[in-house]
Amino acid sequence: MNQTPDSQTADLFIIGGGINGCGIARDAAGRGLSVVLAEMNDLASATSSASTKMFHGGLRYLEYFEFRLVREALIEREVLLRAMPHISWPMRFVLPYHKDMRFEAETPTSKLLSFVMPWMKGRRPAWLIRLGLFMYDNLGGRKILPGTTTLSLNGTREGAPLNPKFLKAYEYSDCWVEDSRLVVLNARDAAARGARIMTRTEVIAAEREGDLWRIETRRHGSGETQIHRARMLINAGGPWVGEIIRNTVRINSPEGVRLVRGSHIVTRRLYDHDKCYFFQGTDGRIIFAIPYEGDFTLIGTTDAEHGDPDTRPVCTPEERRYLIDFANQYFARSITDADIVWTYSGVRPLYDDGASSATAATRDYTLKVNAEGGAPVLNVFGGKITTYRRLAESALEKVAAHLGPHGQPWTAGVPLPGGDFPVDGVADLVAGLKARFGFLDDVHARRLVRAYGTEAALVLGDAATAADLGQDFGASLTEAEVIWLMDSEFARTAEDVVWRRSKLGLRLTPAQVETLDEWMAARCRSASTAAE
Ligand SMILES: Cc1cc2nc3c(=O)[nH]c(=O)nc-3n(C[C@H](O)[C@H](O)[C@H](O)COP(=O)(O)OP(=O)(O)OC[C@H]3O[C@@H](n4cnc5c(N)ncnc54)[C@H](O)[C@@H]3O)c2cc1C
Repeated sequence: MNQTPDSQTADLFIIGGGINGCGIARDAAGRGLSVVLAEMNDLASATSSASTKMFHGGLRYLEYFEFRLVREALIEREVLLRAMPHISWPMRFVLPYHKDMRFEAETPTSKLLSFVMPWMKGRRPAWLIRLGLFMYDNLGGRKILPGTTTLSLNGTREGAPLNPKFLKAYEYSDCWVEDSRLVVLNARDAAARGARIMTRTEVIAAEREGDLWRIETRRHGSGETQIHRARMLINAGGPWVGEIIRNTVRINSPEGVRLVRGSHIVTRRLYDHDKCYFFQGTDGRIIFAIPYEGDFTLIGTTDAEHGDPDTRPVCTPEERRYLIDFANQYFARSITDADIVWTYSGVRPLYDDGASSATAATRDYTLKVNAEGGAPVLNVFGGKITTYRRLAESALEKVAAHLGPHGQPWTAGVPLPGGDFPVDGVADLVAGLKARFGFLDDVHARRLVRAYGTEAALVLGDAATAADLGQDFGASLTEAEVIWLMDSEFARTAEDVVWRRSKLGLRLTPAQVETLDEWMAARCRSASTAAE
């Protein structure tokens, strides 16, 4: 096996190409730090492509008195929306009210209410929901997103898909984000600012050599190993954060991670408006039903303990049943197993705060530095997609404390690649793209703008006809786009393309995906032959 020494010493070596690793890499590279990031699979291949895909404050966290987290996340929604108006957009959430909806017994709010209003027997009173929404509207300085309204469900399009027993609802704002594209765009921007991003590269050992870290990586496929040196190590391994502490870095750390699996089901579209539903269950939990990829509805999520990060999370039959039964408490037409076209699952790497249930464990992030015995390592626990940029800023404060100050926070006003246009500018971009590339239909142009924003024209190059885009892999995916994804977005396999750079996996047949995979493998082979 080859072992290549890497003579340069980086300021930061980051383990993990999820949203937290890539967000920190971007922020650090933009401050002039030298950064190397290793991701053992594809970017966003673990939790960061399996979220509910919301930039949200987390309405339910108010019941846990998590005011710091909720406020920070609420403020972030609009900061992020402005920086990436192609991959994120505002959404309205309809919360049907029914008197039998209950709290989870463990929340501080439910305990307080059971004490002062025992006759409610754990039910969430309407005035409390309205109070929570008032706080949600006002804690985080909204400018773009509209506030809460009350809605009749009787004879309205929001009420039409629901059981007629629901007469009234509240409607509030949060945002949608394409989670895995968010990760890739952070990685691309980090690379454009000088970071070295290595995918399919696993960190297999890291040890201190005085003031430096000596890190060993192994390339998947070739098995080639490489030695790197860095002044500080960042462990953003998500569900593997604990394993990395124990088995890779081998330090003593009292911190623990709690692995909580969340699963989603995707059905054919269940209703024909563009709003989401926030459903409260009789068990105190909540789930969302969200319009998804035009023709589908996304329903989730669950909260289940997950033993081991190396066990691939899947939606179990019990979780499918749970989500179907939960949704059927609300929808007028019952959904069944036959409506489900896809499921996905992810593992939340939560900081172990000793909470007794998975639902109650904190969603806030915790950053811990260990510098005992030489060079420092920063371990990242928890966090949300919504707070990744603030988490990166906090991480950079810890870096500064050990490596000395390096620049100021800068990411708040700076768009991600393709996001340099106004929040309400998607329609104009689509029209402009269609005017320039007359062969594009509306659906294709819109998909490209939602994925690549102002860079959509770069993906298409100087094509004058549809045939100039090369091979058609189906569902409007062409050779030109796949080449862009391979050359500019770190994609290597069909799975990277159809489930993370896009969601075209919902539309392509297995045979089409196989053709794409073979085409990409052949292109990788010819690139490596040319490099030899
Ligand atoms: C079901 C569910 C729903 C969620 N919904 C939302 C939501 O709607 N909104 C929101 O804001 N947040 C949401 N979250 C939370 C959010 O998704 C996570 O907090 C976030 O994605 C965690 O990112 P991460 O970078 O820490 O971890 P990950 O994305 O898991 O990244 C860690 C990476 O480290 C890599 N790695 C591990 N070990 C090594 C090694 N030795 N060498 C190299 N690489 C390694 C892994 O391959 C992985 O890609 C949700 C989470 C779940 C599970």
